[in-house]
This record gives sequence, C-alpha cells and structure tokens, in this order.
Amino acid sequence: REIFGVGRKNAKGWDFTDVVTVRQIHEESRKFAAPFQWRAKASKQLGDGAKDQPIFNPTNPSEIVGFAENVTADQARAAIGVAMEGQKAWGAMDVVDRAGILKRAATMFEERATEFFALATREAGKSLADGIAEVREAVDFLRYYANEALKAEHNGDPRGVIVCISPWNFPLAIFSGQVAAALVTGNAVVAKPAEQSPLMGGLAVSILHEAGVPKDALLLAAGAGDIGAALTGDPRIGGVCFTGSTEVAKLIDMQMAKSAASDAMLIAETGGLNAMIVDSTALAEQAVRDIVASAFQSAGQRCSALRMLYVQQDIADDLLDMLKGAMDALALGDPWDDATDVGPVIDQDAQAEILAYCADLEQQGRLLHKLNAPKKGYFVAPHLFKVSGIEDLSREIFGPILHVATFKAREIDQVIENVNARGFGLTFGLHTRVDDRIEKIGSQIKVGNFYVNRNQIGAIVGSQPFGGEGYSGTGPKAGGPNYLNRFRNVSKARELN
Ligand code: GLU
Repeated sequence: REIFGVGRKNAKGWDFTDVVTVRQIHEESRKFAAPFQWRAKASKQLGDGAKDQPIFNPTNPSEIVGFAENVTADQARAAIGVAMEGQKAWGAMDVVDRAGILKRAATMFEERATEFFALATREAGKSLADGIAEVREAVDFLRYYANEALKAEHNGDPRGVIVCISPWNFPLAIFSGQVAAALVTGNAVVAKPAEQSPLMGGLAVSILHEAGVPKDALLLAAGAGDIGAALTGDPRIGGVCFTGSTEVAKLIDMQMAKSAASDAMLIAETGGLNAMIVDSTALAEQAVRDIVASAFQSAGQRCSALRMLYVQQDIADDLLDMLKGAMDALALGDPWDDATDVGPVIDQDAQAEILAYCADLEQQGRLLHKLNAPKKGYFVAPHLFKVSGIEDLSREIFGPILHVATFKAREIDQVIENVNARGFGLTFGLHTRVDDRIEKIGSQIKVGNFYVNRNQIGAIVGSQPFGGEGYSGTGPKAGGPNYLNRFRNVSKARELN
C-alpha cells in the first residue's frame, strides 16, 4: 500500500518518472478536502440561462463537492454554432501547434494531479489508487494522440464539430481521451460530461483552455435530460464520440440517422458482460488475485469488469474458498482512506438498482458470499452468486457483483460458444498454463480485449488499445493507432491506399 511508483513532487509539481508514497499524495490532496468546492462553468459565449447544479460526494451524500452550470437545450445548440465558427481557425492551424497545445495541457494535468486525485475521490468515489490511474491515463491519452496526429498517415480533413459524451466512471480519462482525439485532428468539440461528474470535465476544459485551445473550439455543455439529444440530433455536427450504455448508444444512432448529415460518424464504446475462464491448470493464488481485481476494483464500475466467472469443476471448491477469503480481506470505506479497496457506487439510483438485483438473486437462493457495506454513503458490498452460465445474466449490472459457474473439461467449447452467443464482446480473461488452449480460445472468443493470466481491467493507452465488438461498441479502439482516422474525412482514394 505504501509505494505506487507513480511520481515525485518537485518544484514544478509532480514528476511521474519517480516514486512517491500514497501518504505523500494523501497529504497533498487534503488541501482540496471539504469545504473546498469546484465550479464547472458554462462557456461565456452561450449567454445566460445556465442553472447551478450541486454535486454531492457519494461517500458522504450531504457534502457538496461543487456546482456545475447546467446549460439549457437551446444553449447546447448554440454551443454547436459557436464551435462551427471556432473550428475554422483551429482546423487551419498547423497540426504541430495543436499537438503542442495538448502536450502542454498534459504537463499541466500532472502539475495539478493532487487536485484531480481529490476531485476523483470526492466527486466519483474513486480510491486513491484509481484516482492516480485516472490522471495517468488522461495524461497518456493527451500525449499519445498528440504524437499520433503528427504521423503522416493521419492526413485528411477535420469533420467539423464533434460532440463528445463521456461517462462518470472515468470522468477525467475518457473525457480527455475523446476531446484530445477530436481536437488534435482539427475538429472543434462540444463536450458533455456525465451529469454525475461534470466537475472533472470542467476542470479539464479550463486547463485545456489555459494550455491554448481557443474557447470557441472547445465548449463544455454540462447538463442532463434533453441536452444529449439536442447535441446528437443536431444536423450540423460532424460526429459523435460516445462512451456509456448500449441502450443510449442505440438511441444516439437513431437520432443521428434521422437528423445528422449522412456522413457524420459515430464511435460508441458501450457495455460488457465480460467472462473469465479458470481451468484446472491455473495457479490458484494468482487467479484469485486477478478475479478480485477484475470484479471488485473500482467497485465493479468499469465496462471491462469481470461479471461471469467460469471455474473448472475439479478445482472449484478450493478456488471458491480462496476467493471468499480474498473477498473477506477487502476493505470497504471512505476512498480517501489509503487502506480502502472498495469505495461507494456513484449515486443513490445506482445503489438502489444494484441492491434490488442482488435481493432478487438472493431470493432465488443463489448467494454464495457477500460482505457488509458501511451504512452511510452509497455503498454496495461485493457479492458472489452461483448461476449456470452467462445465459442466466439478464443485463450488465454496473457494480461489485460477480457470478460464477463451473464447467467440466469437455464443456469448454460450449462455454466459449455461450459467451459469444450472449452478444457482448469487450473483455475476456483466461487463466491456464496450457499454451494450446490460449491459442485456441484466443482465436474463438469474440472480444476486443483478451487477457491471459492477469486481470482484465485497466488497459494501457498505446500498448493495449481498448474497445469491443457486438453490443460492446463500434469504431476503432481508444488508445490505438486507428482511432484518429475516424475523426477525419479521408478521401476514398486515400482509404484504398
Ligand atoms: N479502459 C478501462 C479498462 O480497461 C475501462 C473503461 C470503461 O469502463 O469505460 O478498465
């Protein structure tokens, strides 16, 4: 718990090439504890009308973390008009200059890392470890897309105004990744952060402006309700970059089909019902560690998280005993406490939905193990349920809930078939020491990210491009070499080359 190996404070801020202890980060970020508050400001160009929305801490729901100035649907549409004008000068700028601005912003993110850690904890309930990874990933996205844009193969015209809609579970990393990709390729951006986590997006936008992105090339449109539809249904947009649920992605797709110019692009990164197979040759200690991280880290609030564990019958009793023991060792509590492994879920609605789901499975007699959750705050304790397979799972439950089934050696092909047939295709984990099995399953399983003998969360920008297929998404993988191509209109002739 002591060493994270992420950076050291120096005169200019945080140097991420060195080692720092959690305690140092902890002390430093305490400056931003309550009563410190943030404000996500609506762009001045949009005039009056925005309404203050208080944002509460999911660990301590009476604590106000700050205020977001939520725009109206008319202001959201006005933001597209402003961005269309702003795009002209921004798109005409040399790509070297745009990339330079993003790199400057990356360094500024690092300098303000402890403020981001505090905000990740207070606004999104993230543990310090998750908060650190979040800032690291945002910085990686900024630098990676800046460098990718400088490569010649990414020539092509900007699409215009890209609407970026990001989720609350990675309120800085995914927000910044979408925005950076759209901006560096010469597009202007209207960015709508999740209604639960607009303060992170607001801080990121203000730093990007400070780094040199013109205010009319990047506009923040915080809000809920009809804001999203006003943006994605606007015929003037050049595309939408969305991360969130499969249902919302389908709605956006329909809205765009009705209203947007026919060549507007959609990138959608959506949900998963991710499985892992542990066969009888696996190293049990390692498998259990990776199961716990995959299913319960970030309180299971990752689209990559493990939901459906398949354990070979011969080892199931022993492995599940170890898993229950490992679950018992998890500390639930205030994510600001550096001993905490599992923080709260994002809000009351999420908590109620997950708990209702658990109550239902408990009533069916499927509960194998569960922990106790703190009474105050939106906590959900990790639960383990017995099911017969992925076909029993009605939908993605975005919390620390793991389902387990056993299989016999001869049934393994059937397991893969069932996982593929369920239709999601984001992550898949395999624990085995049989090389042929890795080859075979790797070629059969239909997922974007296949992980062997490790956990299945936390893809690293650049080395592990992230994204799925089927119900899990459409478009190139984030953090990979093809991502920027989608943000430019590449002529047919060039595409054929
Ligand atoms: N990229 C994240 C991971 O690999 C998941 C992103 C998401 O949950 O949307 O864990």
